[in-house]
Amino acid sequence: MHLIIANPRGFCAGVDRAVRVVDELLDFAEEPVFVRHEIVHNHAVVGALAKRGAVFVEEVESIPSGAIAVMSAHGVAPAVVSEAKARDLRVVDATCPLVTRVQLEVARHAKAGHDVIIIGHRGHVEVDGLLGYFQSAAGQIQVVEDEAEAATVEVGDPARLAYVTQTTLAVSQAERIVDVLKSRFPALIAPRGDTICYATQNRQDAVRKLAERAEVIFVVGAPHSSNSRRLAEVAREEGRRAYLIESADEITADQIGAAAHIGLMSSASAPEHLVQASVRRLSDMFPGLKTEEFGKAETMFFRAPVALEKLKKEKEVMAQAKAQAEAEAKAKAKERAEAEAHREKLRQPIRFDGLDDVLQTAADLAEQLRETAVASARVGEREAEMLVNIGENVRDRAVNEELLAEARKMEVVDSLRRSAHRAVDLGIDAVGVALRVGSDAVDSFLSTPRRSLDTAAR
Ligand code: SF4
Repeated sequence: MHLIIANPRGFCAGVDRAVRVVDELLDFAEEPVFVRHEIVHNHAVVGALAKRGAVFVEEVESIPSGAIAVMSAHGVAPAVVSEAKARDLRVVDATCPLVTRVQLEVARHAKAGHDVIIIGHRGHVEVDGLLGYFQSAAGQIQVVEDEAEAATVEVGDPARLAYVTQTTLAVSQAERIVDVLKSRFPALIAPRGDTICYATQNRQDAVRKLAERAEVIFVVGAPHSSNSRRLAEVAREEGRRAYLIESADEITADQIGAAAHIGLMSSASAPEHLVQASVRRLSDMFPGLKTEEFGKAETMFFRAPVALEKLKKEKEVMAQAKAQAEAEAKAKAKERAEAEAHREKLRQPIRFDGLDDVLQTAADLAEQLRETAVASARVGEREAEMLVNIGENVRDRAVNEELLAEARKMEVVDSLRRSAHRAVDLGIDAVGVALRVGSDAVDSFLSTPRRSLDTAAR
């Protein structure tokens, strides 16, 4: 048994970019990440992102005001983005740049007053988005799904008619529809570039080559994915049995039948781990299975939307500000704790190293107080002596002068003498007060250790 795995396969650059957007947002956003519609049409991809916290909704009105809202790779009408902005949502538009190219083509035709035919599938989210880009009072836009519709569609002015295609159509089918339209409307204006994208074309080419060698082909992809369904259809167009599978469990021996060469392919929205799971299942079913890869992988890469980078930057700035505020709050808390510890220390009673230490400290304090009292008494004595001297000096001078009689009469000398004696009394009082204060202080100083000793004794 031979297994041939085609290249290029799996995620295209647009899908890779859209999934990366949600992945990165989930990495750094602290709030929920809302995604309008499935980011890409694949249940495994959507399930894995939902498990990480992404919230998928169908309408913008289901997203709470101010939240992050991602628009899926398929694109949306401008009205949806306006509604999201009116709801104050932080929009990250993950529309594939190649879908954007088609949207701009539709907008250009609308501006030029052309009628437009979209070749695609009605109700597909990409087509709904394209319809929203046609803002014209003059022209009209309509969808054509197949050759039968192309043969009957009515248009306003065939001389001013343009067409675009959904990006994920089967190239061959789109060409057949365009041929019918051109036969009816020879002036039909073609898009400026291919509107079926490179990834769709490359995978369809790869599956065609695969069909040259494989009798049965498994296409890994979701049944509601347009590009996945087209791959299986292309394989069938090439005359091969083809099965669209979402998971390896769906592969059965009946499907393979008598085939000696099995082909394996995956769509632009299918992750590689599902391909590898299919390889393991086939290896289990057919021991000795020979596996071969053919074709070349793609290298196309689309950069992340600017809105994502902006949001990331905002978050970084906010994280830095938060870290700084936390560091400042921490430093303040440390300062407060240190100040409180210091106050607590001051509130604690002085610890003495035994009773001798207490008595020595009390004796030192009493000595200091005694010295203060003695110094006060000396000041009183000096004042008294000075006053006495002054009085005696005045008396001596009075004795020697004729004013003596008058001085006696005024009792100046006696008055001064009384003042001197009073000053001496004051000095003595000061000594008494100082000694009392000292004694009270010593008592109060000793009361704490005494209480501790009493408590210890009890
Ligand atoms: S299939 Fe094409 S248009 Fe669609 S996301 Fe991929 S690259 Fe873009």
